[in-house]
Amino acid sequence: MGSPRRPTPHDDERARERELLAELAALYRDVDAAYADTRCPTSTECCRFGITGREPYVTSLELAALRRAVAARGGALHPKRRALPLLGGDTASERTCPMLDAAGRCSVYDARPLGCRSFFCERAETEGRPVTRGELAAFVRRVQELAARHQRDGERGRPLTRALED
Ligand code: SF4
Repeated sequence: MGSPRRPTPHDDERARERELLAELAALYRDVDAAYADTRCPTSTECCRFGITGREPYVTSLELAALRRAVAARGGALHPKRRALPLLGGDTASERTCPMLDAAGRCSVYDARPLGCRSFFCERAETEGRPVTRGELAAFVRRVQELAARHQRDGERGRPLTRALED
């Protein structure tokens, strides 16, 4: 029997990323708990950036979580399994997120970034106390702190679609 393989710097990097992803998952649980009283009509408009006029930004660590989720589900959604246009236009002009599936669901829901967890259109309703701007800013800071430990400049957010293309 051969001797066990020595850990490489790449192994260390992967292990560190796994630890940071576990911290990110815990943070996402806090975010979801904060928004637990918010209900939305699930129109999927928020996943169509040409309609909302805004797109979530992702840090390096959020992108790593998304990439792992995409790989775990067998790769990117085939174009035929992606969402159809909503308003009778086309998905290009609606700038539909490539992870929105034909059933109108996020195909990487558990790994969706903070921007997706915290953005609701004006039709959303909150039964309890709404999340304050200060609370949201604190969540953003926590994500940025984790991402800064993940990669140099990892805390700098990039538009989701552009980050996915790199
Ligand atoms: S990652 Fe998921 S929730 Fe976020 S915009 Fe894309 S489909 Fe929507």
